[in-house]
Amino acid sequence: MRTELATLLNNYQEAHRSLFYLQSFDLSVVAQIIERMQQLSSGNTFKVKVFNPAFGAFELKNPLIYPATASANNAAPDLLHFLQESHEQELNFAYTRAEGIAADEVKLSDPEQVLVLVLQDCHDLLQPQHPQSGAISACLKGIADSSRFIDHYQVIVLMVSPVMVLPPAIEEYITLLDMPIPEYHEISKIIDNYAKAMGITIDEDTSQVLSRSFKGLNAYQIRQILNLAYHNGGEISLHDQVLILQEKAQVIRKSGFLELMNFSETMDDIGGLENLKEWLNVKEKIYKNFDKAIRFGVDAPKGILIFGMPGCGKSLCAKATANKFGLPLTRLDVGRLLGKYVGESEQNMRKALALAEAISPCVLWIDELEKAFAGVGSGGSHEVTTRLFGQFLTWMQEKESSVFIVATANNIKMLPPEFMRKGRFDEIFFVDLPNADERQQIIKIHLKKRKKWNFKINTNELVEKTEGYSGADLETVVKTAIEAAFVRSLQSSDGNYELTSQDLLDAQKSIKSISQSMSKQIEELKDSCKDYDIRSASKSK
Ligand code: ATP
Repeated sequence: MRTELATLLNNYQEAHRSLFYLQSFDLSVVAQIIERMQQLSSGNTFKVKVFNPAFGAFELKNPLIYPATASANNAAPDLLHFLQESHEQELNFAYTRAEGIAADEVKLSDPEQVLVLVLQDCHDLLQPQHPQSGAISACLKGIADSSRFIDHYQVIVLMVSPVMVLPPAIEEYITLLDMPIPEYHEISKIIDNYAKAMGITIDEDTSQVLSRSFKGLNAYQIRQILNLAYHNGGEISLHDQVLILQEKAQVIRKSGFLELMNFSETMDDIGGLENLKEWLNVKEKIYKNFDKAIRFGVDAPKGILIFGMPGCGKSLCAKATANKFGLPLTRLDVGRLLGKYVGESEQNMRKALALAEAISPCVLWIDELEKAFAGVGSGGSHEVTTRLFGQFLTWMQEKESSVFIVATANNIKMLPPEFMRKGRFDEIFFVDLPNADERQQIIKIHLKKRKKWNFKINTNELVEKTEGYSGADLETVVKTAIEAAFVRSLQSSDGNYELTSQDLLDAQKSIKSISQSMSKQIEELKDSCKDYDIRSASKSK
């Protein structure tokens, strides 16, 4: 169970910690957290002062109200002065209280005052190159030390900014806080409260589905979407899931660590691979009833590794899986995570995986897995790649989230053997060059896609002649035949020329199959899987 942030802060404060950094842009959440701290504390009063580089010092109210002018005398807001003044005020309070206790005028058990200083968006003032940053750091350090050593001196400094800047001089003193994103039941409550405030009803099914879809977004984003949905249609309905997906797409794009894929491919666009499709049918049922399945005792699926021949539908499967499960498809490009500073790549990987979890349920696609972690285990990899690989593997092993991994690869021999162990992927499938039945289906799919399928076309001979062709080769045959038929139609008197079976056969003659053009590599790939007991994605011929 997640510890509530307000409880955590109260506990820290009792342990005399006083400097905190919360990476967030939303000050209204801070007001709620402090209100909650006040409720949870044993009668202490919380005096809250906010400092903002534009507005200076002001009181924190819920709902949030910024002052109209920068300060009474229009002087530039001065953080150092604000901290010094607050420190002095708290010192006075602490000494007065100590004297009161000594004189028996105040009981030790009487509630105390906790001074909460919220520094909003002060990151620039904390940068080492800022002229005042040394003095500001020293003052913050003074406040932290006073909290530890002076009785009745209780100050919490909460630095709140979307940009994290930790001054090196006080880094050790600062506790980083994670801005929690609401859990399922909290999201339901936000939806409920919103409906009540707007005087609308949202039926239970809709509320449940939306609560699950909203997962990964913060309270501010959720309210924004509810607002948008309500003002768009005067109600909140299942159609508003589109808005949620759009918002999630923004979160992903802004991060730069993952790529959100646009796709329209469905399982019907894939010819053959029936074993793989059947396996995905079961996982689809789990994903579409995720909470129920987990309550029933089903393990959260981890994902699949699909490897095999180039151009035979592996990427197509990643896209169609996301479509089948009704989930966004995000792509992890490990190369993009590599940074130039020590530890940067690992931090990027952590952020990418955390982001995938945050926006889950989703499909996480890792293309060319063998290249992403090239050389790991054989001594040929870069140290950083080995560490990223370890990090990814641990995450895979431990993950209980609804992130479904689809990893695709060509050469299984180039994959670190750890990937092949039980407990990593739920299943590993080998995609071979399509058999006769599959070729028949693939040709038909591509003809239909281009509205050129008709009962006069007979593809039997083409199927026979295309043994060793990949799905991509077959698509090229279809495209070439249609192109040729079009050119011919320009020459016919009525411009009405239908594609024929012969056009397809003619096109096939001009296109070499992958087995011919890359014969050595294809033989190697076939050989590579003989050493492993791996399921075929296709039903046997
Ligand atoms: P690579 O290993 O080179 O990345 P891949 O196995 O991921 O290849 P895809 O990108 O999925 O191959 O396939 C390329 C194109 O070939 C697809 O966009 C699709 O049009 C066609 N294709 C391949 N296999 C099939 C199939 N089984 N059914 C229908 N079309 C297919």
